[in-house]
Amino acid sequence: MNVNESMIPQNGQIVTMSTARQTRTIEQINLDNLAHNLAVFKSRLKPTTRTLALVKADGYGTGALRVAQRLVEGGIDYLAVAAVDEGIPLRNALGSRIPIIVLNPNMSDHEAMFNINLEPEVYSIEQAHILLHDLQHYRPESFRDVPYPIHVKIDSGMHRLGFTDTQLRELTELLHHTDVLRPVSVFTHLSVADDVDNDEYTLAQLDYFTRCADMLESALRGRTLLRHVLNTSGTMRFTDYQMDMVRLGIGLYGIRTVFDGSEDDLRPVASLNSVIISIKEWEAGTTIGYGRRGLLTRRSRIATVPIGYADGYDRRYGCGATSMWVAGTMCPTVGNVCMDAVMIDITDAPADVRVGDRVEVFGNHVPIEALATARGTIPYEVLTGVSPRVARVYVDTSN
Ligand SMILES: *Cc1c(COP(=O)(O)O)cnc(C)c1O
Repeated sequence: MNVNESMIPQNGQIVTMSTARQTRTIEQINLDNLAHNLAVFKSRLKPTTRTLALVKADGYGTGALRVAQRLVEGGIDYLAVAAVDEGIPLRNALGSRIPIIVLNPNMSDHEAMFNINLEPEVYSIEQAHILLHDLQHYRPESFRDVPYPIHVKIDSGMHRLGFTDTQLRELTELLHHTDVLRPVSVFTHLSVADDVDNDEYTLAQLDYFTRCADMLESALRGRTLLRHVLNTSGTMRFTDYQMDMVRLGIGLYGIRTVFDGSEDDLRPVASLNSVIISIKEWEAGTTIGYGRRGLLTRRSRIATVPIGYADGYDRRYGCGATSMWVAGTMCPTVGNVCMDAVMIDITDAPADVRVGDRVEVFGNHVPIEALATARGTIPYEVLTGVSPRVARVYVDTSN
């Protein structure tokens, strides 16, 4: 084989997959599809509604920096991360223009947060006091009295973080005594926006939120705050409640959560491909892999693929629970998933399938949603669960 080294994609590189030679497991992130998905959401919203993109957990495992860059080009208004650490590389790369919210600011990171203007979610009175204290102690002298943007979280029914209506009074009290904390937005998170059977609960959350937001605004003497409630499934199902902004996560990455047809225009952003590194033919009765769990019931062609549970290919995908797509054929796993490899049955695939041929682990033919089902979890966990050992390449034709 004539190996052209320059065609072997490196981690983080932008490639055209059709020319790239694949020798190992590679996750491909299609930024064109990401931009398409953002456009799909924008087309369903009022032109004045802002969009926030969740790029926490390294952009749901797809690479926060490249994802954020492409979304900024696509006209996203806000970014949000979970932790200050996640915001630092984004601020450094993107400059000061785009506001970045930190949903779960660690109090020990406040100084770093102030230095690069990340905007904290404020979710409890204790946290608000510590934030105020730190603003007055750890900002450069000349900035000490300059109002700092915060985003007030209401607990309308998720019961994770946020102010209840009674706790909100303590916050408004505090805000009356200082100008250093400047609320920019007020928001809440829906806990069952994807669940038709629970729409009454969602509507009650929306109502509770509106009362709290009204209360906060009137305590701020009518200063208006950005209001935002809807995540992906909320945006799809409760579009009337888009208010001033929506917060898009999983849908931007092209994954469906409600399956009512409303998401059919979305395109998958992440696909995981590997390669066949060995093929052998075995008689019926042969057993494959650890624990002899893969018992062949017919003469079979068995291929080995270099992806295992250490790559995020969950052990529950083994023993036929899922399949890989090989040259137009779905080929089930055989036996237990190993740490670094898994075997698949390619007996039904075309006879000319060879060592070196590409297999799709998930992507256009094997939906992430199907892997999630096989593993008894949600697509979020599959997407964020691809391990850092897997090389990631980007498809981006925008420039
Ligand atoms: C993660 C997150 C979202 C996005 O949820 P998706 O279901 O991925 O769209 C929205 N809001 C908050 C507060 C979140 O933490």
